[in-house]
Amino acid sequence: MRTFENLDKLTILHYPNPILKKASAPVEEFGEELVQLSQRMLELMKQEPGIGLAAPQVGILIRLFVCNVTGEPDDDLVFVNPRFTELTGAVDCEEGCLSVPGVNVTKRRASHAVIEAMDATGRPFQMSGIDLLARVWQHETDHLDGRLISDTMSTADEIVNRRAIKQLKEEYAGGRPAPRG
Ligand code: ZN
Repeated sequence: MRTFENLDKLTILHYPNPILKKASAPVEEFGEELVQLSQRMLELMKQEPGIGLAAPQVGILIRLFVCNVTGEPDDDLVFVNPRFTELTGAVDCEEGCLSVPGVNVTKRRASHAVIEAMDATGRPFQMSGIDLLARVWQHETDHLDGRLISDTMSTADEIVNRRAIKQLKEEYAGGRPAPRG
């Protein structure tokens, strides 16, 4: 069983950290370690606050993401080795990302999704979601394949986000926040 040490020290990686571009590996072992990791990721996500967080965003390259689109504790969801069995409809909406702070990109996503996955203990389940929930699942699954919202921007979005992208690059290069203003 792989152990995820120093869960307290987990932080959210920012663009352009190259780890965010890597594809994640399927999870093969389940159990308490994965449950602990999922709980810690939900905490980090809510602190930001955000509505979804994928394991590669905290530097762990496994196919796992968490989400909660309502903020209610009962709506915490953990998806391991997720796979879409249906993606239908198409809707454009602005999206942000905890790994690309300050950047908003209009993305076309399926409006209805059916997803199959396992929970952190390895129990398989299937869920159907629409609108925001379906969108979060697609956004987080992109992370598992090394894709970010900033990878494919329209010219208009590139212009709007140019300054924020430049600042993120400077912060990454310098290892500290660049002066703002
Ligand atoms: Zn994201």
